[in-house]
Amino acid sequence: MNLIDFHVHSDSSDGLLSMRDLAKKAEDVGLDALVLTDHDYWSGSFDRNLTLMDCFSKEIGIPVIVGCEINTPSGEFLLFGKEAIDRWLSFRDQLSKIFTVAGCSNFWNAFRFDVLGSFLKDGIEKMGTPYAMIMCHPASADFYSKQPRSMFELIHGFEIVNRGIRSNPDTVRVLRKLMPWARKLSNSDAHDDEIGLSRNEVDIEGPVTEESLIEWLRRGKS
Ligand SMILES: [Zn+2]
Repeated sequence: MNLIDFHVHSDSSDGLLSMRDLAKKAEDVGLDALVLTDHDYWSGSFDRNLTLMDCFSKEIGIPVIVGCEINTPSGEFLLFGKEAIDRWLSFRDQLSKIFTVAGCSNFWNAFRFDVLGSFLKDGIEKMGTPYAMIMCHPASADFYSKQPRSMFELIHGFEIVNRGIRSNPDTVRVLRKLMPWARKLSNSDAHDDEIGLSRNEVDIEGPVTEESLIEWLRRGKS
């Protein structure tokens, strides 16, 4: 059994600790892998971060897996899979340019849940790009009841604990009904040294890698 916290920020976005310090801390608190989920506005340094992750993973001897916290008007999601993240960052940049040219000052207002759904379906799933996606810090039950159902088919898990705070039971009930397959996850959303404050028991046999984590998330049904 592997203990894994799927939601951690480094100083590559708005976290305070370096990846190296996080990798050491993850090992100190007994985690079996470090999963970094810096925000999507770190796109300029994505390649550099991947190189650093490899470096600290080898030095400290703990798998360091990349994720990305993506921000949408329908909430925040954790996206996993290097190629999927790379595609998301380009897609986001394109959308941003289109809306800027169209004179829309805040393109997020026009960016709806179904746009993210079509990105995942057409841009990711049809091309066979491996990915998994978790919904973080869920909003109200009422909010999710009004969202397009097709979107939920593309999500593999949702947080029920974030920064020590448990989601509203009504929201959890609605999300469970919308996504009976999805994993329920407890994550720290650490921005400092709270890494591992919440963690998940992950039954992966063999090494924890990006592929095995995605496979575990997609297997669902916890
Ligand atoms: Zn976060």
